[in-house]
Amino acid sequence: MELKEKILAGYGLVLALAVAVSVWAVINLSQLGSASEAILQENYRSILAAENMVNAIERQDSSLLLILQGHEAEGLTQFRQNELAFLEWLGRAKDNITLEGESEVLQTIEAEYLTFIEVSTRLPATASGHLPGVSSYYLDIVLPKFNQIREACIDLREMNQAAMLAASGRAQEVSVRAIWSTAIFGVSVGAIGLIFSLLLSNILVHPLKEMTQAAERIAEGDYDVAITVKSNDELGRLGQEIRSMSRKLKHYHEMNVSRLLTEKRRGEAIIRSINDGIIVIDADFRIIAINPMAAQILDITLAEARGQHCFDVLKSPNLYAHMKSVAETGQPPQLDTRESTFAVQHGDKTEYYQFSITPVRTEQDQMLGVVLLLQDVTKLAELDRLKSEFVMTASHELRTPLTSIAMSIGLLMERAASKLTGDEQDLLQAAQEDAQRLRNLVNNLLDLSKIEAGRMEMEFEPVGVSLLASRAISTMAAQISEKGIVLSQHIPDNLPAVKVDPNKITWVLTNLIANALRYTDEGGHIAVCTEKMSNFVGVSVADDGIGIPLEQQSKIFDKFVQVKSDQTVGGSGLGLAICKEIIKAHGGAIWVESVPGEGSTFTFTIPIANPPSTGP
Ligand code: ADP
Repeated sequence: MELKEKILAGYGLVLALAVAVSVWAVINLSQLGSASEAILQENYRSILAAENMVNAIERQDSSLLLILQGHEAEGLTQFRQNELAFLEWLGRAKDNITLEGESEVLQTIEAEYLTFIEVSTRLPATASGHLPGVSSYYLDIVLPKFNQIREACIDLREMNQAAMLAASGRAQEVSVRAIWSTAIFGVSVGAIGLIFSLLLSNILVHPLKEMTQAAERIAEGDYDVAITVKSNDELGRLGQEIRSMSRKLKHYHEMNVSRLLTEKRRGEAIIRSINDGIIVIDADFRIIAINPMAAQILDITLAEARGQHCFDVLKSPNLYAHMKSVAETGQPPQLDTRESTFAVQHGDKTEYYQFSITPVRTEQDQMLGVVLLLQDVTKLAELDRLKSEFVMTASHELRTPLTSIAMSIGLLMERAASKLTGDEQDLLQAAQEDAQRLRNLVNNLLDLSKIEAGRMEMEFEPVGVSLLASRAISTMAAQISEKGIVLSQHIPDNLPAVKVDPNKITWVLTNLIANALRYTDEGGHIAVCTEKMSNFVGVSVADDGIGIPLEQQSKIFDKFVQVKSDQTVGGSGLGLAICKEIIKAHGGAIWVESVPGEGSTFTFTIPIANPPSTGP
């Protein structure tokens, strides 16, 4: 049976029961109605007739008394009127004989009444004779008849009243029976309806419950669900569909799991086979995967490393800080080669690894963790170190002979110039300039290699920025005025002191002013400005010289980078690289803003000596 038919059958039965109760109630009500009707029909008319007959005969008796008192005409009229009334009600009573013995009573009344009329009609004749005889006639003959008829009429009335009472009792019985039977029938029908409704709802709800539980278990990944619903209706078919769906899902899940396992194994194999160290870290910075190379680098076994906090394994606050920032921002860090090098000590041997950190995110941009790649750059670092040491030694060794060459040329030019020809003097002049340039180059190389090797000592002390600026400006003042350039300075008095190595920062500022001077034509302008920037003081050197092409602006702080122009002749391309290293060693930053043909502004920041506490 289909679900719809089951529901219809259920409701149909309840409806049929309700109709049966209604029919039962209607039958009972109609029985009650006919019982009441019977009371009215059967007895009420007879009682009314008896009552009226009593009234009529009493009035006739009164009219006889009138006659006896001498009002004959009036008495007679009244007597006849009531005679007619009596007979009329008698006729009605006869038409409505409903009780046993009623007919006999009526016959008696009729017979006695005829006698009463007869004896009464003789009374006036007697009355007009002599009065005492009339009275005794009335008392002895007429009055007893009257009383007899009156009694008979009262009997008739009481007989009917008794019958009416009995009928009323019967009607009462019918009504009580009707109430009880209807109540019992109604309660039984209600109970049957309730039982049937519960049965029907159970038939419907039980399979639905079972299927809901099955769906919940499937949603939780348990595909072994057993659905016992076997009916042929829609619910049975739904149960079958859920069974087949769970089988298919289970199959699909198993396929997916095996595919995922294959993918995982493939991924692990790739990670294992890579010669660089790879560590995969989850959002809580715990190691979830690590390849043998990474384990070897960090001197840990694969099993030990898994699940550990990366900080405990890497033991590098700097690397951990970068990983944390990648996890928070989702952006790989912008680091130069030296900043992204990670050193590991193996016994007395230091190994260097270039690290790169890549964020791992879901398609919904949820951060899952980071992947850390460690590439062995020990050989390169060693080579770099050797190169730096070579440059340092070479520059150091070259500095003394170059100084003496420059001094010798200088002396020669001073003392023997008069003995030389013009060409020889020009050659000597060129040799002096070259020696000077070489000295500059060697000095710069020595400075840079010292900074890179971390051997340049910094002597930090609190100092006013205006002092540094005036030192640098006074160094360059002669050359500035010689070239006809106007230098302006904007240095507020209320700037806080900065914590710097004054000689190094003066060197940086002098270098920037020297560059501005070199790359600005005669009559140009240079401005030195300072301003407070949070916990730093920003110092900028602006010029309205030739400017720097946009594509070169990010490169000019690298070693040996020069933008080709007439003015670059004589430069080494190391000045800005040294500036950048010095500023970095102070914890500041340096950058350039420039428009080719309009000028350049170089700005660097240095930390203030007593920064206000930022609070907890
Ligand atoms: P150099 O010794 O060649 O000046 P720097 O490192 O000081 O080396 O400068 C690198 C390059 O940056 C220069 O060759 C020049 O092209 C460019 N440069 C530096 N300062 C300025 C400036 N104020 N205006 C234009 N170009 C500049």
